[in-house]
Amino acid sequence: MSFQTLGLSPALLRALAAQNYDTPTPIQAAAIPVVLAGHDLLASAQTGTGKTAGFSLPLLERLFPLGQRPSSGRPRKPRALVLTPTRELAAQVHDAVRDYSRFLTIYSTTIFGGVGMGNQIQNLRRGIDIVIATPGRLIDHMQQGHIDLSGIEILVLDEADRMLDMGFLPALKRVIAATPRTRQTLLFSATFAPAIKALATQFMRAPREVSVAPANTVVSTVSHRVHPVDAERKRDLLLHILAADSRRQTLVFARTKHGSDKLCKYLNQSGIRSAAIHGNKSQNQRTRALDDFRKAKVDVLVATDIAARGLDIEQLPMVINHDLPMVAEDYVHRIGRTGRAGAEGLALSLVSHEEAGLLRDIRQLLKDDIEIAPMEGFEPSQPLRMDANAPKPRQGGQRQRAGGKKTPAHARRPHAQEPSAGNHGKARRQRRGGAGSRRSPSSPGGRR
Ligand code: AMP
Repeated sequence: MSFQTLGLSPALLRALAAQNYDTPTPIQAAAIPVVLAGHDLLASAQTGTGKTAGFSLPLLERLFPLGQRPSSGRPRKPRALVLTPTRELAAQVHDAVRDYSRFLTIYSTTIFGGVGMGNQIQNLRRGIDIVIATPGRLIDHMQQGHIDLSGIEILVLDEADRMLDMGFLPALKRVIAATPRTRQTLLFSATFAPAIKALATQFMRAPREVSVAPANTVVSTVSHRVHPVDAERKRDLLLHILAADSRRQTLVFARTKHGSDKLCKYLNQSGIRSAAIHGNKSQNQRTRALDDFRKAKVDVLVATDIAARGLDIEQLPMVINHDLPMVAEDYVHRIGRTGRAGAEGLALSLVSHEEAGLLRDIRQLLKDDIEIAPMEGFEPSQPLRMDANAPKPRQGGQRQRAGGKKTPAHARRPHAQEPSAGNHGKARRQRRGGAGSRRSPSSPGGRR
């Protein structure tokens, strides 16, 4: 199977060649023909499967058949809208759309919160073909009459399960209601949970279903290994692993913001160049940390679950869980950062006996045996017990408002922040919303 046989026009094929994409990934092979044929699409695909190109390529082909604009000049209204749960994902999707459309004349922009509205309004006024937006800020623009969605031909809901988890359902409904019924709708989600099915039933027309990874499974090219270790020796074991492994670019997950800062500091002091990314960092700090990691100026990125969601970091050979996530599904999302697009990946977890219950949940979810191998010199003082009474870290936490500031209208939805140290987050839902709701400076997506 090649991209040519999928029916993409030369301008897109040239762009793919420039990206060194030879062969479509399974989600692309399955989704592209369905979208080109004009069907609604309900796709189950995790980050790392190539889903962004799976919707961007046929979207570009349909809006610009054979690489041509249907009319000269800039569009009066946006023709396609991509909704994403976080601004980071919106920026990534925008980057991908730019890469794939480099030989087309198209105008695209991002719309997300945490930055001023002025540039976004100007971009919209100039005329934009494709808008990539987070729901909250988009609603703000709709309310103030800056954007008219009546010309939307294609609507994409990317990581729809995350958007629902973050409490965006009412916003999604409002946005969808502002688009024409005749639109084509593409919904991407890691799982087909009942709420996703309900959304599809309500807003999609006879969607074709495509599923490349069954719900809650991880990419098969990832090997999993657990090193049992006493909690107070985790940092040293991490250092030992990082020092012994010649592979660069490791993503390390910590459970709390405070914990990730401490770990990052410790690694830097020990001579391993590291940066931390979490919900308390400003947008600028996050962008810089990610850039430094991408450019290999730092070798380790220490991240919390929220900060890491949707990050597109290419070809990551290894992900290390310094702490296990409180919710087993988050393990799957974390591990989605390695073994991407066919590359081999290694997922290591450092598990103390207090976390045995979390490991038990993860193993049940994966329906898979994760290798448990004590590391010589770091053997734990107590074995990991996996029975029904296996211990879990204490849950706690309280709902907080973004930055403690007056809550803006669009942010008055259930959202939350990552737990701070010793404050492990009350519920999964609470830990989902932080990234999209904090205010900090950053440049909005530009025009093209
Ligand atoms: P995504 O799941 O959309 O976040 O994509 C994961 C990564 O795979 C991104 O870095 C893409 O650039 C890359 N990718 C997507 N499609 C292909 C392909 N057909 N061949 C090689 N790499 C790809």
